[in-house]
Amino acid sequence: MAVSRRGLLRWTGAAVVAGGAVAAGGAPAGAGPGRWARLRAHLGGELLLPGDAGYDTARLPFNSLFDHHRPAAIARCVRPEDVQRCLAEARRGRLRVAARGGGHSYAAYSTPHDGLVVDLAPMNDVELRPDGTAVIGAGARLGDVYAALAAAGRCLPLGNCPSVGIAGLTLGGGLGWVDRAFGLTCDWLRAARVVTTDSRLITVSEDREPDLFWALRGGGGGNLGVVTSFEFATAPVPEVLTVFRMRFPAGSAADVLGAWQPWSAAVPDHLSSTCVVLPDGSVDLTGCSLGPEALLLGELAHLGVAGPLEHAEVDYPTATAIMTQGHPPRNAFRASSRIADGMWDDPAAVADTVRGKDSALLIVGALGGAIDRLGPTDTAYPHRGAPTSVEVFGTVGDLPPEQVTREVDDAQSALARLIGTGTYINYLDPEQDDWAETGYRHNLRRLRAVARRYDPDGVLRFPQSVR
Ligand SMILES: Cc1cc2nc3c(=O)[nH]c(=O)nc-3n(C[C@H](O)[C@H](O)[C@H](O)COP(=O)(O)OP(=O)(O)OC[C@H]3O[C@@H](n4cnc5c(N)ncnc54)[C@H](O)[C@@H]3O)c2cc1C
Repeated sequence: MAVSRRGLLRWTGAAVVAGGAVAAGGAPAGAGPGRWARLRAHLGGELLLPGDAGYDTARLPFNSLFDHHRPAAIARCVRPEDVQRCLAEARRGRLRVAARGGGHSYAAYSTPHDGLVVDLAPMNDVELRPDGTAVIGAGARLGDVYAALAAAGRCLPLGNCPSVGIAGLTLGGGLGWVDRAFGLTCDWLRAARVVTTDSRLITVSEDREPDLFWALRGGGGGNLGVVTSFEFATAPVPEVLTVFRMRFPAGSAADVLGAWQPWSAAVPDHLSSTCVVLPDGSVDLTGCSLGPEALLLGELAHLGVAGPLEHAEVDYPTATAIMTQGHPPRNAFRASSRIADGMWDDPAAVADTVRGKDSALLIVGALGGAIDRLGPTDTAYPHRGAPTSVEVFGTVGDLPPEQVTREVDDAQSALARLIGTGTYINYLDPEQDDWAETGYRHNLRRLRAVARRYDPDGVLRFPQSVR
Protein backbone atom coordinates (compact mmCIF):
# COMPACT_ATOMS: atom_id res chain seq x y z
CA MET A 1 0.00 0.00 0.00
CA ALA A 2 1.43 3.37 -0.96
CA VAL A 3 0.66 6.09 1.58
CA SER A 4 0.66 9.84 1.65
CA ARG A 5 3.26 11.88 3.49
CA ARG A 6 0.60 12.74 6.12
CA GLY A 7 0.00 9.02 6.71
CA LEU A 8 3.69 8.38 7.12
CA LEU A 9 4.00 11.28 9.53
CA ARG A 10 1.39 9.56 11.70
CA TRP A 11 2.93 6.12 11.71
CA THR A 12 6.57 6.72 12.29
CA GLY A 13 5.80 8.87 15.31
CA ALA A 14 4.49 5.82 17.11
CA ALA A 15 7.53 3.66 16.51
CA VAL A 16 10.11 4.83 19.01
CA VAL A 17 10.40 7.36 21.76
CA ALA A 18 14.11 7.72 21.51
CA GLY A 19 15.79 7.50 19.43
CA GLY A 20 28.30 14.97 37.31
CA ALA A 21 31.63 15.52 36.38
CA VAL A 22 34.43 15.27 38.92
CA ALA A 23 36.65 18.19 39.70
CA ALA A 24 40.16 18.02 38.34
CA GLY A 25 42.33 16.50 40.99
CA GLY A 26 39.49 15.57 43.36
CA ALA A 27 37.13 17.72 45.40
CA PRO A 28 34.71 20.06 43.69
CA ALA A 29 35.69 23.65 44.23
CA GLY A 30 33.25 26.24 45.60
CA ALA A 31 31.95 28.93 43.31
CA GLY A 32 33.45 32.16 44.61
CA PRO A 33 31.53 35.23 43.52
CA GLY A 34 34.77 36.83 42.33
CA ARG A 35 35.35 34.02 39.89
CA TRP A 36 31.95 34.42 38.29
CA ALA A 37 32.22 38.20 38.13
CA ARG A 38 35.57 37.81 36.37
CA LEU A 39 34.21 35.26 33.91
CA ARG A 40 31.08 37.31 33.25
CA ALA A 41 33.15 40.39 32.51
CA HIS A 42 35.10 38.57 29.80
CA LEU A 43 32.38 36.51 28.14
CA GLY A 44 30.83 37.60 24.87
CA GLY A 45 27.69 35.64 25.87
CA GLU A 46 25.65 35.47 29.08
CA LEU A 47 26.71 33.80 32.30
CA LEU A 48 23.73 32.36 34.16
CA LEU A 49 23.99 31.66 37.88
CA PRO A 50 21.36 30.07 40.15
CA GLY A 51 18.66 32.66 40.72
CA ASP A 52 19.28 34.44 37.40
CA ALA A 53 16.34 34.72 35.02
CA GLY A 54 16.56 31.84 32.56
CA TYR A 55 18.86 29.68 34.72
CA ASP A 56 16.17 27.18 35.67
CA THR A 57 15.28 26.49 32.05
CA ALA A 58 18.80 26.66 30.67
CA ARG A 59 20.15 24.10 33.13
CA LEU A 60 17.74 21.30 32.16
CA PRO A 61 19.23 18.29 30.33
CA PHE A 62 17.23 16.30 27.77
CA ASN A 63 16.94 13.33 30.14
CA SER A 64 14.68 14.65 32.87
CA LEU A 65 15.77 11.84 35.19
CA PHE A 66 18.73 14.14 35.89
CA ASP A 67 16.80 17.34 36.56
CA HIS A 68 18.36 17.43 40.03
CA HIS A 69 21.70 18.46 38.47
CA ARG A 70 22.18 22.12 39.38
CA PRO A 71 25.26 23.58 37.71
CA ALA A 72 27.12 26.36 39.52
CA ALA A 73 27.08 28.39 36.31
CA ILE A 74 26.07 28.17 32.66
CA ALA A 75 28.28 30.08 30.23
CA ARG A 76 26.48 30.78 26.95
CA CYS A 77 29.46 30.89 24.60
CA VAL A 78 29.22 32.91 21.41
CA ARG A 79 32.82 32.59 20.20
CA PRO A 80 35.85 30.33 20.73
CA GLU A 81 37.42 32.90 23.09
CA ASP A 82 34.51 32.33 25.51
CA VAL A 83 35.31 28.63 25.58
CA GLN A 84 38.99 29.40 26.16
CA ARG A 85 38.06 31.69 29.05
CA CYS A 86 35.78 29.05 30.62
CA LEU A 87 38.44 26.35 30.48
CA ALA A 88 41.03 28.71 31.95
CA GLU A 89 38.67 29.52 34.83
CA ALA A 90 37.79 25.87 35.38
CA ARG A 91 41.41 24.87 35.40
CA ARG A 92 42.43 27.63 37.75
CA GLY A 93 39.57 26.96 40.18
CA ARG A 94 39.64 23.16 39.87
CA LEU A 95 36.00 23.31 38.83
CA ARG A 96 33.92 20.54 37.37
CA VAL A 97 33.37 21.58 33.75
CA ALA A 98 31.65 20.10 30.70
CA ALA A 99 30.75 21.22 27.20
CA ARG A 100 27.16 21.10 26.12
CA GLY A 101 26.01 20.75 22.51
CA GLY A 102 22.46 19.45 22.26
CA GLY A 103 22.26 18.31 25.90
CA HIS A 104 21.17 14.73 25.03
CA SER A 105 23.85 12.88 27.00
CA TYR A 106 22.06 9.84 28.45
CA ALA A 107 23.53 10.51 31.91
CA ALA A 108 23.43 14.32 31.61
CA TYR A 109 27.20 14.59 31.58
CA SER A 110 26.89 17.94 29.82
CA THR A 111 25.08 19.29 32.91
CA PRO A 112 27.63 18.80 35.71
CA HIS A 113 26.10 19.22 39.16
CA ASP A 114 27.85 22.13 40.92
CA GLY A 115 30.05 22.65 37.88
CA LEU A 116 30.40 24.96 34.90
CA VAL A 117 28.41 24.26 31.74
CA VAL A 118 30.20 25.48 28.62
CA ASP A 119 27.06 25.90 26.57
CA LEU A 120 27.80 26.10 22.86
CA ALA A 121 24.16 26.49 21.79
CA PRO A 122 24.63 30.04 20.48
CA MET A 123 27.45 28.82 18.20
CA ASN A 124 25.14 27.05 15.80
CA ASP A 125 25.94 28.48 12.36
CA VAL A 126 25.96 26.16 9.39
CA GLU A 127 28.03 27.54 6.51
CA LEU A 128 28.28 25.72 3.20
CA ARG A 129 31.38 26.53 1.15
CA PRO A 130 31.43 26.50 -2.65
CA ASP A 131 33.52 23.29 -2.60
CA GLY A 132 30.72 21.46 -0.74
CA THR A 133 32.36 21.39 2.69
CA ALA A 134 30.21 22.53 5.57
CA VAL A 135 31.50 24.39 8.62
CA ILE A 136 29.13 23.73 11.48
CA GLY A 137 29.16 25.43 14.88
CA ALA A 138 29.41 22.93 17.74
CA GLY A 139 26.13 24.17 19.21
CA ALA A 140 24.08 23.24 16.15
CA ARG A 141 21.31 20.68 16.49
CA LEU A 142 20.66 18.09 13.83
CA GLY A 143 17.45 19.81 12.74
CA ASP A 144 19.45 22.99 11.96
CA VAL A 145 22.02 21.00 10.01
CA TYR A 146 19.53 18.94 8.00
CA ALA A 147 17.62 22.08 7.01
CA ALA A 148 20.61 24.27 6.11
CA LEU A 149 22.33 21.59 4.03
CA ALA A 150 19.20 20.40 2.26
CA ALA A 151 18.37 23.99 1.27
CA ALA A 152 21.63 23.91 -0.70
CA GLY A 153 21.00 20.43 -2.09
CA ARG A 154 23.58 18.76 0.18
CA CYS A 155 23.40 16.20 2.96
CA LEU A 156 25.32 14.41 5.72
CA PRO A 157 24.37 11.15 7.43
CA LEU A 158 22.95 12.28 10.77
CA GLY A 159 20.82 10.81 13.55
CA ASN A 160 17.11 10.32 14.01
CA CYS A 161 16.28 13.08 16.49
CA PRO A 162 16.38 16.74 15.35
CA SER A 163 17.24 18.15 18.80
CA VAL A 164 20.37 16.00 19.28
CA GLY A 165 23.57 18.05 18.99
CA ILE A 166 26.00 17.67 16.08
CA ALA A 167 28.80 17.72 18.70
CA GLY A 168 27.87 14.69 20.80
CA LEU A 169 26.62 12.75 17.78
CA THR A 170 29.82 13.21 15.77
CA LEU A 171 32.25 12.71 18.65
CA GLY A 172 30.63 9.36 19.54
CA GLY A 173 30.34 8.14 15.92
CA GLY A 174 26.87 8.98 14.64
CA LEU A 175 24.37 6.30 13.60
CA GLY A 176 21.34 7.24 11.53
CA TRP A 177 18.66 6.32 9.05
CA VAL A 178 20.94 6.29 5.98
CA ASP A 179 24.13 5.05 7.66
CA ARG A 180 24.42 1.89 5.55
CA ALA A 181 24.43 4.11 2.46
CA PHE A 182 26.65 6.93 3.75
CA GLY A 183 28.51 5.65 6.83
CA LEU A 184 28.75 7.30 10.23
CA THR A 185 28.57 11.05 10.77
CA CYS A 186 32.19 11.07 11.99
CA ASP A 187 33.33 9.47 8.72
CA TRP A 188 32.56 12.77 6.96
CA LEU A 189 34.55 14.91 9.39
CA ARG A 190 37.50 16.64 7.72
CA ALA A 191 38.65 19.06 10.44
CA ALA A 192 37.62 20.59 13.75
CA ARG A 193 38.52 23.63 15.83
CA VAL A 194 39.19 22.54 19.38
CA VAL A 195 39.95 24.37 22.62
CA THR A 196 42.33 22.20 24.63
CA THR A 197 42.29 22.19 28.42
CA ASP A 198 45.25 24.58 28.50
CA SER A 199 43.01 26.98 26.56
CA ARG A 200 44.74 26.79 23.19
CA LEU A 201 42.49 27.01 20.13
CA ILE A 202 43.82 24.53 17.57
CA THR A 203 42.82 23.17 14.20
CA VAL A 204 42.69 19.40 14.02
CA SER A 205 42.68 17.37 10.81
CA GLU A 206 44.34 14.38 9.16
CA ASP A 207 47.53 16.50 8.78
CA ARG A 208 47.39 18.59 11.95
CA GLU A 209 47.24 16.83 15.34
CA PRO A 210 46.37 13.52 13.60
CA ASP A 211 46.04 11.54 16.85
CA LEU A 212 43.48 13.96 18.17
CA PHE A 213 41.67 13.89 14.82
CA TRP A 214 41.57 10.09 15.05
CA ALA A 215 40.20 10.29 18.60
CA LEU A 216 37.52 12.87 17.81
CA ARG A 217 35.91 10.39 15.42
CA GLY A 218 34.21 8.02 17.88
CA GLY A 219 36.19 8.70 21.06
CA GLY A 220 33.11 10.11 22.76
CA GLY A 221 32.06 13.63 23.72
CA GLY A 222 33.62 15.38 26.68
CA ASN A 223 36.95 13.60 26.67
CA LEU A 224 39.57 15.45 24.69
CA GLY A 225 38.90 19.17 24.58
CA VAL A 226 35.98 21.35 23.58
CA VAL A 227 35.19 21.46 19.88
CA THR A 228 33.98 24.86 18.74
CA SER A 229 33.26 23.96 15.10
CA PHE A 230 33.35 21.00 12.74
CA GLU A 231 34.22 20.91 9.06
CA PHE A 232 32.51 18.12 7.12
CA ALA A 233 32.51 16.91 3.57
CA THR A 234 28.94 16.65 2.29
CA ALA A 235 27.17 14.70 -0.45
CA PRO A 236 24.55 15.80 -2.97
CA VAL A 237 21.06 14.91 -1.72
CA PRO A 238 19.71 11.70 -3.26
CA GLU A 239 17.07 12.50 -5.85
CA VAL A 240 14.53 10.00 -4.67
CA LEU A 241 14.18 7.85 -1.57
CA THR A 242 11.60 5.32 -0.47
CA VAL A 243 10.64 5.17 3.20
CA PHE A 244 8.73 2.22 4.52
CA ARG A 245 7.15 0.61 7.53
CA MET A 246 5.99 -2.96 8.08
CA ARG A 247 4.17 -3.89 11.28
CA PHE A 248 4.04 -7.33 12.81
CA PRO A 249 1.63 -8.43 15.55
CA ALA A 250 2.29 -9.49 19.15
CA GLY A 251 4.24 -12.73 19.41
CA SER A 252 5.96 -12.44 16.05
CA ALA A 253 9.32 -11.02 17.17
CA ALA A 254 11.29 -14.29 17.02
CA ASP A 255 10.19 -14.98 13.43
CA VAL A 256 10.67 -11.39 12.30
CA LEU A 257 14.14 -11.01 13.83
CA GLY A 258 15.09 -14.44 12.48
CA ALA A 259 14.20 -13.34 8.96
CA TRP A 260 15.32 -9.71 9.24
CA GLN A 261 18.84 -10.35 10.55
CA PRO A 262 20.26 -12.19 7.49
CA TRP A 263 18.17 -10.07 5.13
CA SER A 264 19.36 -6.75 6.54
CA ALA A 265 22.97 -7.87 6.24
CA ALA A 266 22.55 -9.11 2.65
CA VAL A 267 20.65 -6.19 1.11
CA PRO A 268 22.59 -3.57 -0.86
CA ASP A 269 24.09 -0.62 1.02
CA HIS A 270 21.37 1.74 -0.17
CA LEU A 271 18.92 0.13 2.27
CA SER A 272 19.00 0.89 6.02
CA SER A 273 16.42 -0.55 8.42
CA THR A 274 15.53 -0.87 12.10
CA CYS A 275 13.26 -3.21 14.06
CA VAL A 276 11.62 -1.91 17.22
CA VAL A 277 10.70 -4.93 19.35
CA LEU A 278 8.07 -4.32 22.01
CA PRO A 279 7.53 -6.37 25.21
CA ASP A 280 4.49 -8.12 23.67
CA GLY A 281 6.64 -9.43 20.83
CA SER A 282 5.22 -7.10 18.21
CA VAL A 283 7.69 -5.50 15.80
CA ASP A 284 7.81 -2.24 13.91
CA LEU A 285 10.17 -2.51 10.96
CA THR A 286 10.99 0.86 9.43
CA GLY A 287 13.63 1.93 6.99
CA CYS A 288 14.76 3.95 4.04
CA SER A 289 16.07 2.94 0.65
CA LEU A 290 17.90 5.34 -1.64
CA GLY A 291 16.06 4.97 -4.92
CA PRO A 292 12.58 4.43 -6.35
CA GLU A 293 9.98 2.22 -4.69
CA ALA A 294 10.50 -0.63 -7.17
CA LEU A 295 14.02 -1.04 -5.83
CA LEU A 296 12.78 -1.35 -2.25
CA LEU A 297 9.93 -3.69 -3.16
CA GLY A 298 12.38 -5.98 -4.95
CA GLU A 299 14.43 -6.26 -1.76
CA LEU A 300 11.43 -6.68 0.53
CA ALA A 301 10.32 -9.64 -1.60
CA HIS A 302 13.27 -11.55 -0.12
CA LEU A 303 12.57 -10.67 3.52
CA GLY A 304 10.88 -13.98 4.24
CA VAL A 305 8.18 -12.55 6.51
CA ALA A 306 5.45 -10.13 5.55
CA GLY A 307 3.15 -7.75 7.31
CA PRO A 308 1.06 -4.80 6.25
CA LEU A 309 3.44 -2.54 4.31
CA GLU A 310 3.27 1.21 4.03
CA HIS A 311 5.74 2.97 1.81
CA ALA A 312 6.21 6.21 -0.06
CA GLU A 313 8.63 7.49 -2.67
CA VAL A 314 9.69 10.93 -1.46
CA ASP A 315 12.32 13.64 -1.82
CA TYR A 316 15.12 14.06 0.71
CA PRO A 317 13.57 16.78 2.92
CA THR A 318 10.38 14.73 3.19
CA ALA A 319 12.30 11.56 4.02
CA THR A 320 14.22 13.50 6.68
CA ALA A 321 11.00 14.81 8.21
CA ILE A 322 9.51 11.32 8.31
CA MET A 323 12.56 9.50 9.64
CA THR A 324 13.34 12.05 12.37
CA GLN A 325 9.91 12.68 13.85
CA GLY A 326 8.17 11.58 17.00
CA HIS A 327 10.62 12.64 19.69
CA PRO A 328 9.37 14.47 22.76
CA PRO A 329 11.14 17.73 23.72
CA ARG A 330 12.46 16.00 26.87
CA ASN A 331 12.08 12.54 28.36
CA ALA A 332 12.92 10.53 31.49
CA PHE A 333 14.58 7.31 30.39
CA ARG A 334 17.21 4.67 31.01
CA ALA A 335 19.00 3.06 28.11
CA SER A 336 21.90 0.81 27.32
CA SER A 337 23.34 -0.86 24.26
CA ARG A 338 25.07 -3.88 22.83
CA ILE A 339 26.67 -4.21 19.44
CA ALA A 340 26.73 -7.69 17.95
CA ASP A 341 30.06 -9.43 17.35
CA GLY A 342 28.57 -11.35 14.44
CA MET A 343 25.29 -12.90 13.36
CA TRP A 344 23.31 -14.06 16.39
CA ASP A 345 21.86 -17.55 16.32
CA ASP A 346 18.93 -17.28 18.74
CA PRO A 347 16.58 -14.48 17.63
CA ALA A 348 13.84 -15.79 19.92
CA ALA A 349 16.09 -15.34 22.95
CA VAL A 350 16.98 -11.82 21.78
CA ALA A 351 13.29 -10.94 21.58
CA ASP A 352 12.72 -12.55 24.99
CA THR A 353 15.12 -10.12 26.67
CA VAL A 354 12.26 -7.61 26.85
CA ARG A 355 9.30 -10.01 26.84
CA GLY A 356 6.70 -9.01 29.42
CA LYS A 357 8.65 -5.97 30.63
CA ASP A 358 6.70 -2.85 31.59
CA SER A 359 9.06 -0.40 29.94
CA ALA A 360 12.09 -1.81 28.13
CA LEU A 361 12.00 -2.25 24.38
CA LEU A 362 14.67 -3.06 21.80
CA ILE A 363 15.76 -0.87 18.92
CA VAL A 364 17.63 -3.22 16.61
CA GLY A 365 19.46 -1.43 13.80
CA ALA A 366 21.28 -2.85 10.81
CA LEU A 367 24.92 -1.74 10.60
CA GLY A 368 27.41 -2.69 7.88
CA GLY A 369 27.29 -1.19 4.39
CA ALA A 370 29.24 2.06 4.14
CA ILE A 371 30.05 1.96 7.87
CA ASP A 372 32.47 -0.85 7.06
CA ARG A 373 34.31 1.03 4.33
CA LEU A 374 36.67 2.16 7.10
CA GLY A 375 38.50 -0.34 9.29
CA PRO A 376 38.15 -0.86 13.07
CA THR A 377 41.30 1.14 13.89
CA ASP A 378 40.94 3.89 11.25
CA THR A 379 38.96 6.04 13.68
CA ALA A 380 38.30 5.67 17.41
CA TYR A 381 34.88 4.11 16.64
CA PRO A 382 35.80 0.42 16.91
CA HIS A 383 32.73 -1.50 15.73
CA ARG A 384 33.41 -1.69 11.97
CA GLY A 385 32.29 -5.08 10.74
CA ALA A 386 29.54 -5.54 13.34
CA PRO A 387 26.20 -6.43 11.75
CA THR A 388 23.72 -4.98 14.27
CA SER A 389 23.32 -2.52 17.09
CA VAL A 390 20.74 -3.25 19.78
CA GLU A 391 19.67 -0.43 22.07
CA VAL A 392 17.60 -1.28 25.13
CA PHE A 393 15.40 1.70 25.88
CA GLY A 394 13.09 2.21 28.84
CA THR A 395 10.88 5.26 29.26
CA VAL A 396 10.24 5.92 32.95
CA GLY A 397 6.81 7.53 32.72
CA ASP A 398 4.86 6.60 35.87
CA LEU A 399 7.09 3.65 36.74
CA PRO A 400 9.66 3.71 39.55
CA PRO A 401 13.01 4.60 37.92
CA GLU A 402 14.68 1.67 39.75
CA GLN A 403 12.33 -0.75 38.00
CA VAL A 404 13.16 0.70 34.60
CA THR A 405 16.86 0.56 35.41
CA ARG A 406 16.50 -3.11 36.40
CA GLU A 407 14.60 -3.97 33.22
CA VAL A 408 17.20 -2.25 31.03
CA ASP A 409 20.08 -3.82 32.96
CA ASP A 410 18.61 -7.33 32.75
CA ALA A 411 18.05 -7.06 29.00
CA GLN A 412 21.50 -5.57 28.40
CA SER A 413 23.24 -8.33 30.39
CA ALA A 414 21.29 -11.02 28.56
CA LEU A 415 22.13 -9.45 25.20
CA ALA A 416 25.82 -9.46 26.08
CA ARG A 417 25.61 -13.26 26.31
CA LEU A 418 23.42 -13.64 23.21
CA ILE A 419 24.90 -11.26 20.64
CA GLY A 420 28.20 -9.90 21.97
CA THR A 421 29.45 -7.27 24.35
CA GLY A 422 30.10 -4.25 22.14
CA THR A 423 28.73 -0.95 23.42
CA TYR A 424 27.89 2.17 21.42
CA ILE A 425 29.53 5.04 23.28
CA ASN A 426 26.78 7.49 22.34
CA TYR A 427 24.35 5.32 24.32
CA LEU A 428 26.56 5.55 27.38
CA ASP A 429 24.90 3.78 30.33
CA PRO A 430 26.10 4.96 33.76
CA GLU A 431 25.09 1.59 35.27
CA GLN A 432 27.25 -0.46 32.90
CA ASP A 433 30.56 -1.65 34.38
CA ASP A 434 32.29 -2.76 31.18
CA TRP A 435 31.53 0.38 29.14
CA ALA A 436 35.15 1.40 28.49
CA GLU A 437 36.49 -1.96 27.30
CA THR A 438 33.37 -2.77 25.29
CA GLY A 439 32.77 0.76 24.00
CA TYR A 440 36.30 1.27 22.66
CA ARG A 441 37.70 -2.26 22.43
CA HIS A 442 41.10 -2.45 20.70
CA ASN A 443 41.15 1.37 20.46
CA LEU A 444 40.96 1.95 24.22
CA ARG A 445 44.69 2.01 24.88
CA ARG A 446 45.43 4.52 22.09
CA LEU A 447 42.44 6.65 23.07
CA ARG A 448 43.58 6.78 26.70
CA ALA A 449 47.02 7.90 25.59
CA VAL A 450 45.54 10.68 23.44
CA ALA A 451 43.19 11.80 26.23
CA ARG A 452 46.08 11.98 28.71
CA ARG A 453 48.19 13.91 26.24
CA TYR A 454 45.54 16.56 25.58
CA ASP A 455 44.07 16.68 29.10
CA PRO A 456 46.96 15.63 31.36
CA ASP A 457 45.40 17.09 34.50
CA GLY A 458 41.94 15.61 34.00
CA VAL A 459 40.23 18.99 33.74
CA LEU A 460 37.40 17.40 31.74
CA ARG A 461 37.16 14.27 33.88
CA PHE A 462 33.66 12.81 34.45
CA PRO A 463 32.48 9.41 35.70
CA GLN A 464 32.70 7.75 32.27
CA SER A 465 35.55 9.73 30.73
CA VAL A 466 38.43 8.01 29.01
CA ARG A 467 41.40 8.24 31.38
C1 LIG B 1 16.21 11.23 21.85
C2 LIG B 1 17.58 10.79 21.42
C3 LIG B 1 17.79 10.35 20.13
C4 LIG B 1 19.07 9.92 19.74
N1 LIG B 1 19.26 9.48 18.46
C5 LIG B 1 20.49 9.09 18.07
C6 LIG B 1 20.74 8.66 16.73
O1 LIG B 1 19.84 8.61 15.89
N2 LIG B 1 22.01 8.27 16.40
C7 LIG B 1 23.02 8.30 17.31
O2 LIG B 1 24.14 7.92 16.94
N3 LIG B 1 22.82 8.72 18.56
C8 LIG B 1 21.59 9.11 18.97
N4 LIG B 1 21.39 9.54 20.25
C9 LIG B 1 22.52 9.56 21.17
C10 LIG B 1 23.29 10.86 21.00
O3 LIG B 1 24.12 10.75 19.85
C11 LIG B 1 24.19 11.10 22.23
O4 LIG B 1 23.40 11.21 23.37
C12 LIG B 1 25.04 12.35 22.01
O5 LIG B 1 26.11 12.33 22.90
C13 LIG B 1 24.22 13.60 22.22
O6 LIG B 1 24.93 14.72 21.80
P1 LIG B 1 24.47 16.16 22.31
O7 LIG B 1 25.41 17.16 21.76
O8 LIG B 1 23.02 16.35 22.07
O9 LIG B 1 24.61 15.97 23.88
P2 LIG B 1 25.43 16.70 25.02
O10 LIG B 1 24.78 16.22 26.26
O11 LIG B 1 25.48 18.16 24.81
O12 LIG B 1 26.89 16.12 24.87
C14 LIG B 1 27.16 14.75 24.98
C15 LIG B 1 28.61 14.57 25.50
O13 LIG B 1 29.49 15.25 24.62
C16 LIG B 1 30.17 16.31 25.30
N5 LIG B 1 30.20 17.47 24.40
C17 LIG B 1 29.15 18.22 23.99
N6 LIG B 1 29.58 19.19 23.19
C18 LIG B 1 30.91 19.05 23.06
C19 LIG B 1 31.90 19.78 22.37
N7 LIG B 1 31.59 20.84 21.64
N8 LIG B 1 33.18 19.37 22.47
C20 LIG B 1 33.51 18.29 23.22
N9 LIG B 1 32.60 17.58 23.93
C21 LIG B 1 31.31 17.95 23.84
C22 LIG B 1 29.35 16.58 26.54
O14 LIG B 1 30.13 17.14 27.59
C23 LIG B 1 28.82 15.20 26.87
O15 LIG B 1 29.79 14.43 27.56
C24 LIG B 1 20.13 9.97 20.66
C25 LIG B 1 19.92 10.44 21.95
C26 LIG B 1 18.66 10.83 22.35
C27 LIG B 1 18.45 11.32 23.77
